[in-house]
Amino acid sequence: MKKLYLIGNFKMNMNLSELRPYLKSYKKVAKRAANSTGICVPYVYLDYVSRALKGSRAIYGVQDMYYQDHGAYTGEISPSMLQDYDTKLVIIGHSERRAMFGDTDEIVNKKLTTALKYGFTPILCFGETLEEREAGKVTAVIKKQLTKALAGLTKADGGKIFFAYEPIWAIGTGVVPTTEQLSKVVKQIRSIITKILDTTDDEIKLLYGGSLKPSNAKQILAINGVNGGLIGGACLKMEDFKSIIYENVE
Ligand code: PEP
Repeated sequence: MKKLYLIGNFKMNMNLSELRPYLKSYKKVAKRAANSTGICVPYVYLDYVSRALKGSRAIYGVQDMYYQDHGAYTGEISPSMLQDYDTKLVIIGHSERRAMFGDTDEIVNKKLTTALKYGFTPILCFGETLEEREAGKVTAVIKKQLTKALAGLTKADGGKIFFAYEPIWAIGTGVVPTTEQLSKVVKQIRSIITKILDTTDDEIKLLYGGSLKPSNAKQILAINGVNGGLIGGACLKMEDFKSIIYENVE
């Protein structure tokens, strides 16, 4: 079995009364998944999650981060604040942040560079819209997003990033790419990254995200070049998340 990373993205879901029993179960589930599962939670629960998961094998993190260390940035959260809670994962450039909260490729680059500087493991999200796919622009869109996001970064940085290919048309829709579509784009992504960072293919950790669930996880995660998944909706239901983890992680 290849090593797979299965990371949950809570988005703006869960409150404390839901989180309590969830974490109790998750701690047990994570025992089976030696350091290869994690959750990205809302900032307000970071302290709670860091305490609850202490001593467990699960890693945790957040869904965004600002690129300044401190200052007059009302409403933002800085990398040094995240360090106070032993944060490991930071999602950068999720399509919802790009579409709704103004995260441009340039901002994504600043956040990614900063996340690496502070020692986090960034999960860099990228992917095309349905219109872009239908217009035959998948490679061009991905190349542009990756080139801009990775500007100024090195080969060594590449090995510290989780690259998360998330076709926007698959996020929260229940629709997933076919094995052929995904295999093709995975090869392209890997080739684009190796060229930009002058790195080798085996240094790249590539996750797939978009409607991953128990019924399709095995097939998607088996695709050559896919090293795991970023899981939104299905990570909120512990039974689903558990089943994806148990069936795919050694
Ligand atoms: C996501 O938004 O990162 C995601 C993968 O969502 P979902 O699994 O709900 O499609």
